[in-house]
Amino acid sequence: MAGKRSESQDQLLTNKNILIKNGNIYDGSGDAPQKADILIEDGLIKTIQYGIKLQETQSAGALIIDASGRVVTPGFVDIHRHADVACLADTCFGETELAQGITTAINGNCGIAPVPAPANSEWCEELYRYIEPVIGTVKAGLPFASYGEYTAAIRSRKFPLNIGFLTAAGAVKTAVKGFDKGPFTRAEMEKAQNLIEEAMNCGAHGISFGLMYRPECYSALEELTLLARTAAKHGGVLTTHIRGEGELLVRSVEEVIEVAQRAEIPLNISHFKATGIKNWRSAIFRAIDKIEAARVKGQDVTADFYPYDGGSTTLLSLVPPSLLETSIAELAKKLSRKDGVETLRREINKEHENWENMVLSVGWDRVIISSPFLEKNEDCRGKSMTFIVRERGLTDETELLADLIASEKGSTGIIALSMAQDDIETIAVLPWTCLISDSLYSGGSSPHPRLNGTFPKFLRVFVREKKLLSMETAIAKMTGMPSRRMGLLNRGFLKEKAPADILVFDSEKFTDNADYTSPLPHAEGIETIIINGKIVNKNECHGLFI
Ligand SMILES: [Zn+2]
Repeated sequence: MAGKRSESQDQLLTNKNILIKNGNIYDGSGDAPQKADILIEDGLIKTIQYGIKLQETQSAGALIIDASGRVVTPGFVDIHRHADVACLADTCFGETELAQGITTAINGNCGIAPVPAPANSEWCEELYRYIEPVIGTVKAGLPFASYGEYTAAIRSRKFPLNIGFLTAAGAVKTAVKGFDKGPFTRAEMEKAQNLIEEAMNCGAHGISFGLMYRPECYSALEELTLLARTAAKHGGVLTTHIRGEGELLVRSVEEVIEVAQRAEIPLNISHFKATGIKNWRSAIFRAIDKIEAARVKGQDVTADFYPYDGGSTTLLSLVPPSLLETSIAELAKKLSRKDGVETLRREINKEHENWENMVLSVGWDRVIISSPFLEKNEDCRGKSMTFIVRERGLTDETELLADLIASEKGSTGIIALSMAQDDIETIAVLPWTCLISDSLYSGGSSPHPRLNGTFPKFLRVFVREKKLLSMETAIAKMTGMPSRRMGLLNRGFLKEKAPADILVFDSEKFTDNADYTSPLPHAEGIETIIINGKIVNKNECHGLFI
């Protein structure tokens, strides 16, 4: 990551001043680039001098980075990672993030988080098994009983990049009443609101919903509004994984717009997309119309997206809610019986009201087992369910699904190739969408490639290859826009007095190396990373809790 610094300059890395000279500056606002010099002092951008050189006296003694022929951008801001546990437990945390230029990450998305841990140990166990396909294994010692404990743990450490979080409504609901299907009682709602208050007081940037997931899939308008309003009182944003992204897309978008409007909270729809082959190239336009109509009326509604046509989720999302029990152990027991498999076969081959049947909308052959939990299911890794059925000589995919859920207790990660590239491009060019990775940390040797490639892939495909967006617009979608959405003040912008999170790279050479068949290689091409005014060298942590 040393870029074009000289040997002798490396000795000056502790120097508090850095001068980046002659770079092509993309400031994160979406404005066209300009040649400028940037002087960094005490962690902040002190001066940006456009057109003319900084006076020698102003930058005397500074470490000089010659950025001739390079672009200089704000560090990338990923407001949707699932690194809640990885940032505390994974010794490699930061490597793939920094290789992509991510200098700030927000966790706690999709209603999913390891905090607050339910006091009831059974619910706790159930929660961790349920969310592990997204956030990775919750190792001993990591459960946090409260947001205070969680943020104290974050504050007590140094991270390679800046870390922030959202309060996850799914975790809050589980802490209050497990995976119970019923609505909150008044006392339970009060408990949930107190937890959200606590999170906001501990620094949460807002609240996240995961309406497709248990137990939030049982929550209705009024309950969601009360939860969102609590975050709104503290100036938070609502980000939401909506109830359905295929057949239910338009209705689901309408639902969250209504919740946000009633709760008076800014809304960001997470990983906006249309899934299911018959919805391709049509449903997304109807959903966009709903959002634009709300925006015209003055409501603050935005969305984010990732640049891949496959989505990551868990095998449990294929199971119709009519079969779901209050515990995964009960469901596993049911699916290990013959009559249970029969019921699953009957239910999975029909449409259900208010629930999206991915098997019918996407097809078994487009569902890839990306992270089996048990050694004995390793043969499934990276293969479609249809392929595995043939290989194992099973009756059909339902039998495989029942077996995997029964044996792995719902902890199997999948990639569903559920989207059309045209739709992704439609979303990417909208003026109110920003880029996210939605990275999952459970994939082991076969994660979704978006963990390792999202940010450079966006520039490579959408800017360099397809020329759908200008570089400055794309950079704004990776920096200023997501930062503003999360209320991160000046982060994500190159301007005077802003925290100095800065990247220097050759825009032709910055590239992703991960894809579905080979998802592990990290990105390459970032020459210099500066976080909070300090140049990042291997194993150094300059990130802050933000
Ligand atoms: Zn999600």
